[in-house]
Amino acid sequence: MMLVITLQRPKCIGCNYCVEAAPELFRMSTRDGKVVLLRSTEKRGFYTLRTPRLDLEEPAREAARLCPAKIIRVKRV
Ligand code: SF4
Repeated sequence: MMLVITLQRPKCIGCNYCVEAAPELFRMSTRDGKVVLLRSTEKRGFYTLRTPRLDLEEPAREAARLCPAKIIRVKRV
């Protein structure tokens, strides 16, 4: 079982809510003011992190719930 988190980064408005909800997963970039999904890989503007750390599901889902741009997706595979 893996946790898969996806961020549609170009639409990030830099509000920092996801960082507050899940500091192990997100960090604000000082370069462009958008959030970084840590340890993720990029494909056409979508950043994806696959991790066996199921303990991160709850903070990830809280981040997704709080995100005003609705650009964070969380699922188990
Ligand atoms: S909560 Fe959403 S809009 Fe706000 S910084 Fe995180 S990804 Fe960007």
